[in-house]
Amino acid sequence: GSTVETLEFQAETRQLLRLVIHSIYSNKDIFLRELISNASDALDKLRLESLIDSGLDADTSDLHIALEVDPDARTLTVRDNGIGMSREDIVELIGTIAKSGTAGLLEKIKETGDAAAAQSLIGQFGVGFYSAFMVADRVTLLTRRAGTEAGTRWESDGEGTYEIQAVDGLPVGTSVTLHLKPVDGEDGLADYLAEWKIRQIVKQYSDFIRWPIRMAGERADEEGATTRQVDTLNSMKALWARPRAEVTEAEYTEFYQQISHDWLAPAETIHMRAEGTFEYEALLFIPAQAPFDLFSRDAKRGVQLYVKRVFIMDDCEALMPDYLRFVKGVVDAHDLSLNISREILQQDRQIRAVRRRLVKKVLGALKDVQTKDTERYLKLWGQFGRVLKEGLLEDADSTAALLELVSAASTHDPERPTTLREYVGRMKDGQEAIYYLTGEDRATVENSPHMEAFAAQGYEVLILTDPVDEVWVERVPDFDGHRLQSIAKGQVDLDRPAEGDEAAEAEKARREQEFSALLPWLTTALSGQVKEVRLSSRLTTSAACVVGDAQDMTPTLEKMYRAMGQ
Ligand code: ADP
Ligand code: MG
Repeated sequence: GSTVETLEFQAETRQLLRLVIHSIYSNKDIFLRELISNASDALDKLRLESLIDSGLDADTSDLHIALEVDPDARTLTVRDNGIGMSREDIVELIGTIAKSGTAGLLEKIKETGDAAAAQSLIGQFGVGFYSAFMVADRVTLLTRRAGTEAGTRWESDGEGTYEIQAVDGLPVGTSVTLHLKPVDGEDGLADYLAEWKIRQIVKQYSDFIRWPIRMAGERADEEGATTRQVDTLNSMKALWARPRAEVTEAEYTEFYQQISHDWLAPAETIHMRAEGTFEYEALLFIPAQAPFDLFSRDAKRGVQLYVKRVFIMDDCEALMPDYLRFVKGVVDAHDLSLNISREILQQDRQIRAVRRRLVKKVLGALKDVQTKDTERYLKLWGQFGRVLKEGLLEDADSTAALLELVSAASTHDPERPTTLREYVGRMKDGQEAIYYLTGEDRATVENSPHMEAFAAQGYEVLILTDPVDEVWVERVPDFDGHRLQSIAKGQVDLDRPAEGDEAAEAEKARREQEFSALLPWLTTALSGQVKEVRLSSRLTTSAACVVGDAQDMTPTLEKMYRAMGQ
């Protein structure tokens, strides 16, 4: 054979492997889900590539995944006849973790050290393949990329290095052979050679995989003779293609967990079918909990695109706007080219219509929760509110729907956030604007001198402390005809003397007279630092406060822009 080369895992990969193998993960069974999902991806890719590139000489007549057990060698093999990998692919995909955010992931696991966190994090970063080392002390991979001749053998004990070698005569596709660790109940290591165990794991995690997952087993026939028989272990049913009435809650949850790698049940499920000129099925989920990377720049979005059950792409940004990136699910469109690119999708008129409809559905589902179960809604808002508010900057069509969803802390009841609609319902007679104050945190806002007069006179003020709040309150002209008014800006005159109240008029004139010398003097003395010194009725206990012009940036926004280098 050819020479064996020994290469080192990238440092981060080594670190990750150590965590995967030694500490973090209690549920070892999921290694099989990860390997099957990789095999399934590889089959999707080959199918797609052969449809696009008719020159690709690949046999796609019997795409499948095979599980093979060798009790004597104590090995379990996951084999696929999918796209395969070239030598370069392997080094790049298996030897290194190029994905950004890995360092953050490692930090987080180290910090929390808890298995649940690890469980939710794993898979999101392509730790998938490495999960094999939870159950195997050696992994051998044989693979040949479709359209190429050279095959490759890869082997590692997951410690620090791997061996790589060219091999002739391999079929197209990939086989991953696990040299299993001894069964150890305490360590969560089941008998992964046992047929029942394998069946159970496949059923639990990979039932909706759209390729047959086959395994050979011994069966006793009627005469008592044993025969070998190959079974398909998964049902392969595409849940989204079935009528809603025929799908159970448990099936939805299972499907959601499979596509999201979440271990919780989804908070909301949206299942719809559109008929007419552009047919599609959509099955969308709102998770109960935000993923840890919701605010990382290259966090994955959750919607996959299929065309007539053929997987086309993950993370389909054309189908879901950025501010709904936490929504997971599947859209299966019937009349698209398999060849479709992300760029074309972005411009496609029909896809845009689908997206508008999906956005409406998702916001509608959130609205339903808000109407039916406030507590549950506030929980969801706690998870996704910050990102939903980004929609007020991005999606003018949805402003009205989004404003209905906004919940904010308020001086009305410090314990309980309010909606804008509730706020409007409580407005004082003659109050026109919705008052708010932004700031870095709640204590700062609540103790701001700007609050004094409003508190003293019983006006409710919204307390907005998310960085994005600074921006959307500027963009959104009004809610239901009521202007959003910062109490830190411009002239907010709370006690304008009532028409014909002569005593008050006289008092105001007297005060202006009294300070007529002081104000210009202060304005000059503070020139360069303030624009004007005014007499105010805002304050009750503080002597003075700094107020912005109506068109000025707020201090937090100023800081934000400065931090962004603008
Ligand atoms: P992820 O699946 O999230 O990308 P994995 O660690 O599971 O991360 O796999 C890393 C990469 O290795 C895959 O993206 C794929 O390119 C490649 N790979 C893994 N298994 C296979 C396989 N059976 N056939 C082809 N490529 C594979
Ligand atoms: Mg994977």
